[in-house]
Amino acid sequence: MIKKFIILSISISLVILNLSGCSQKVKRPKLIVQLSIDGLKAGLLERYDKVFKYGFRKLLDEGLKFTNANVDHAVTVSQAGHVTIATGDHPAKHGIVDAAFYSTINNERVLVDCVQDSTEHILGYPKSKGVSPRQILASSIAGWVTDNDSKSKSLAVGTGYISSLLYSYKKNSDVYWNMGGKYLTSTYYKNKYPLWVQDFNDNILPKIKENPEVWANTVPEKYRGLSRPDTAFYEGDKIHTTFPHSINDELGDLLKKSPERAKSIWFGWTPTSDITTLKFAETGIDSMKLGQRNTTDYLAIILSQVDGNSHYYGPMSMEVFDILVRLDKAIGEFINYLDEKVGRDNYVLALTADHGFPEVVEYKQQQNKFARRLKKDEIENFFNTIEKSAKGLSDLSEERNNLIIKAAKKFDFIADVYSYSELSDKNNSTDKYLSLYQNSFRKDRVPRLPLFSLENFGTPIGKAGAMVRMEEGVMINVDVDTHGSVYDYDRKIPLIFYGSSIKPGINKNEAHIIDVSPTLAHIAGVPVPGDTDGKNIVDDNN
Ligand SMILES: [Zn+2]
Repeated sequence: MIKKFIILSISISLVILNLSGCSQKVKRPKLIVQLSIDGLKAGLLERYDKVFKYGFRKLLDEGLKFTNANVDHAVTVSQAGHVTIATGDHPAKHGIVDAAFYSTINNERVLVDCVQDSTEHILGYPKSKGVSPRQILASSIAGWVTDNDSKSKSLAVGTGYISSLLYSYKKNSDVYWNMGGKYLTSTYYKNKYPLWVQDFNDNILPKIKENPEVWANTVPEKYRGLSRPDTAFYEGDKIHTTFPHSINDELGDLLKKSPERAKSIWFGWTPTSDITTLKFAETGIDSMKLGQRNTTDYLAIILSQVDGNSHYYGPMSMEVFDILVRLDKAIGEFINYLDEKVGRDNYVLALTADHGFPEVVEYKQQQNKFARRLKKDEIENFFNTIEKSAKGLSDLSEERNNLIIKAAKKFDFIADVYSYSELSDKNNSTDKYLSLYQNSFRKDRVPRLPLFSLENFGTPIGKAGAMVRMEEGVMINVDVDTHGSVYDYDRKIPLIFYGSSIKPGINKNEAHIIDVSPTLAHIAGVPVPGDTDGKNIVDDNN
């Protein structure tokens, strides 16, 4: 009884504290900044902590760091992760369950790309294939901000193809990503490039690309032992695995034939493009006066070199280490720019990632850890065998689905296969992975990952409405390294809030990727739709 009373009195005093907190005038940030580093796995910033002096240093020392942040869906592909960050909803709700998924059209499951849209094209390129966010089924923070005040603006810029599109579903938005060495958008968003974008593309970018830099290692000599050794037999094209990387060595033939193309590709492969995206964001802040007016604006920046080079060299490679050292400096300059233009207390920033990354299979094997690379033949044999077991039956028939699942489960690299009915039954929680799979599944959209044919890029399992879980450590041979699984290595991500009212600290509670946007919106005083899956996780008096 006494104990109860004490608890009650504590909660009353907390209520009083909260009420008194409310009566004070809260200073709201004028700019929300979402900084997403594609594919940055949890722990890498800590591993290289000693080397950071600028941007990451500030975020690590002065930010509120969540040390147990997770992606809560099974299909840890970039598109699903970015839309989850932006909307605060699981893929099951926002609809981007995979980069390509099986939609039911005329009683047949058909593989559909998550952004392709034949009614649009890339602005300035009338013959190009179009993209739009029309298949995103939930509102995102960019929309919450601009719906809250008609003066508010949002800008999303990204290095990787369509990366920024995943952050904004609204027409008339400013959304640009690097494509062929220029920052472009879809006709869905605009019918004319603003002058500042045109100027950046026509006058600034050509100078950056004209003299392609030799990509040299800038990691200080004494810290190089923190990553894997620079040279590893399984990296990249297996030939150019060592610094310095140069366009002459790696794109020499194309450089002779088509120098402009070679230089644009090189730009897209190297850290220069991420650094340029940050400069492009600064130009946007200046031109659109983001965070400098009497309202709240939103800015999303998506950097993609860590992802691209983790696919090619692995997350523990010297190449990814060097990218992080360069980003430390570039993000430091960007934060200085924000401090100067917007003011230290006038913005709030979240650094996070859309997914993590496994170690390269061969690296794990060298360390006597279990890892297995599924070769093309093994995958095609798997699909042929399970197809044979259900020959002649229609795609949506239950008999076929059961036969396919039964046949698939016999393979030693398959841990489990979840049927359409298991995935549809939200009350079924016998398996710790099942709820993560359910977050990646909709009755009308079945993901393709993590296992698909390398010949036709489809899967009879997804077509049957089911989802496969491979054994931990198993990877299909699409790249040197691939994410997309349900396991911790793909689901653990960094999460740091910084700026405005944020006090430095470490929070060890479980945090979730769906909480990023609701938290940023809460801090900025922007209403979050009531049915959003995520919630605010930063205490007002943090
Ligand atoms: Zn990604």
